[in-house]
Amino acid sequence: MSSTTRKTEPHFELLPGMIDSHFHSAMMEKKGMDSKALISQALQAGLAGGIDIGIEAGDTARRQWVQREFPQIKLAAGLYPAEAEHENITGRIALLCEDIERYSPAAVGEMGVDRYWNYATVERQQELMRQQIEVANHYRLPIIIHNRDADAEVLQVLKDTPPQTGGVLHCFSSHAAAARSFVDAGLYISFAGNLTYKKSDALREAAAAVPLDRLLAETDSPFLSPQKLRGKLNHPGQVGFVYHTLAELHGQELERLIQLISENFRRLFPD
Ligand SMILES: [Zn+2]
Repeated sequence: MSSTTRKTEPHFELLPGMIDSHFHSAMMEKKGMDSKALISQALQAGLAGGIDIGIEAGDTARRQWVQREFPQIKLAAGLYPAEAEHENITGRIALLCEDIERYSPAAVGEMGVDRYWNYATVERQQELMRQQIEVANHYRLPIIIHNRDADAEVLQVLKDTPPQTGGVLHCFSSHAAAARSFVDAGLYISFAGNLTYKKSDALREAAAAVPLDRLLAETDSPFLSPQKLRGKLNHPGQVGFVYHTLAELHGQELERLIQLISENFRRLFPD
């Protein structure tokens, strides 16, 4: 027997047709993961699509290989709330527009408000989000929203500057009443691995309250590994855990849910 240390094989929880609507290849790389191999294996195992999400101005150049290599995977370009700490928001928006012109992403995001880390001020985060919705409206692109402990603040921006080409609230982490408010605002709601955590009863209640034609599933890789793999790094091939939980909560056959989420995804992010 060889004594060389062998990395544990990645776990795949996947059925054909599943889609990971939110992951970060660049951050997977930063954590030492081979994102190219993992995405490739996931696609071979049946992953039907996904979106590689942007977080800062200029990062699309480092991620464009994903779309080139894997035509099933779309790109999003956007400015995470932390970008509100830059002195010149207008300059960041200009760089984002350059990325959009150059790489033709399928969506603008992720953008939003984060009151856990409290980047800059809430007002600056809201302003950065507002300007990105205007950009998305200009290019007729859907938006991808990050919301941490900021339901009211995000809803305010959506009310002031409605997205005209739709959008999704990613990694939904609030309660059922908030989910209904975001659905009423026209958004799709995407659930991640925290839906499977033991203490997430309120979140599961929220997921059950989202209409089937507004649901999406994601991994937010490399973060938020599902309950069974908690503490490990996440990858798009594990999105099945979220699907299993959503199917259970909605009393749907898994195959039916895969089909519904696929329809939702194609409606929001058409080719
Ligand atoms: Zn993300």
